[in-house]
Amino acid sequence: MNIKIHDGVSVIYRPLRNKTYEVNFLFKVSGRILTLRLNHPAFLILKMLDGTHAFKEIAEVNGISAQEVRKLMKILSQHRLVDINHQKSGKHETDGRFKNQLNFFADYETKNLSRQDMQDQLNRSKVAVIGLGGIGSWVVYGLALAGIKNFILIDPDKISLSNLSRQALYGIADTGKFKVDVMRSRLALLDQTTDCRIIKRTVKSPANVSNFTFKADLVINCADNPATDQVNRWVTDACYSAGQPHILCGGYDGHLSFLGPTVIPDKSACWYCYEKSLDARLAAYRHLQITESEIEGGSLGSISAITANFHVLEAVKVLTGFSKPLLRNAVAEIDFHRFQLNLKRFRKHHSCKICNGGKNGR
Ligand SMILES: [Zn+2]
Repeated sequence: MNIKIHDGVSVIYRPLRNKTYEVNFLFKVSGRILTLRLNHPAFLILKMLDGTHAFKEIAEVNGISAQEVRKLMKILSQHRLVDINHQKSGKHETDGRFKNQLNFFADYETKNLSRQDMQDQLNRSKVAVIGLGGIGSWVVYGLALAGIKNFILIDPDKISLSNLSRQALYGIADTGKFKVDVMRSRLALLDQTTDCRIIKRTVKSPANVSNFTFKADLVINCADNPATDQVNRWVTDACYSAGQPHILCGGYDGHLSFLGPTVIPDKSACWYCYEKSLDARLAAYRHLQITESEIEGGSLGSISAITANFHVLEAVKVLTGFSKPLLRNAVAEIDFHRFQLNLKRFRKHHSCKICNGGKNGR
């Protein structure tokens, strides 16, 4: 069995007094830095952990005892710098489709959650996506790349020519066809084992959401019809009490895009709490609808893709647990003119009966 320091770790060191060394391990994915002080024998062992030396060979070099090697291995293993079990079992899909993703998850492994557990979780999860337009089509694409194989796709619309500048996976020959049908065939090209339940209906009530997203592990709202906020309320009504995590994608408008929130029932505030957090003075304003800006708002495919993929990252965090979702109890606004991201946090509202057991209504 050859032992190797994880490939995703950079090692830099400097000699100190009395033949000791300060060794810094930089985990490139998470940015974590671990500093160890090693004596000379331990440093010699470390230098040999490049995967070309067997345990026995390391112990024999320079008169190092097997006990010293085991001692260092224990320390390195505790800090997840070497994966001895990984070498033993060979269970990980190191050369397959998810090789790089598994290497990414490796930085977040814990005693109880391996990189393969995280990948398995993605492969097993069922995700419902409402709306397959400028956000939803990219969300589905991103999830499929990450290894989601079970989808519920909900959209009543057919593909039009003007969709093709910003919506993923549709082509000229697809115009006039239902988005859900085309998306299902594209996902089969990515992975023929993908299972898609398709629903050609508009979500019009919480009951619709409950019926359509039954048994989904995660529900993602990307629909803006009749209005994003309204569908967010219906998704909240249906999913919060059912214990279904849900991500509410804000969308985009010109040079701005809106992210979140990500809602984990019982653990985070809900959409109604966000609405209550809005400044009362702003809530008093109404939109005078005498222009077409809401209907034919300018948009760019790149902004759609970026906005959608923030939500895909949130979804991967929710499903794998590799890191906490950033949009839990928060929404964000990205200003693409200035490349600024503004995070706005909010809390459970004392009067919210959806998520806080309040008695004063929403
Ligand atoms: Zn609430």
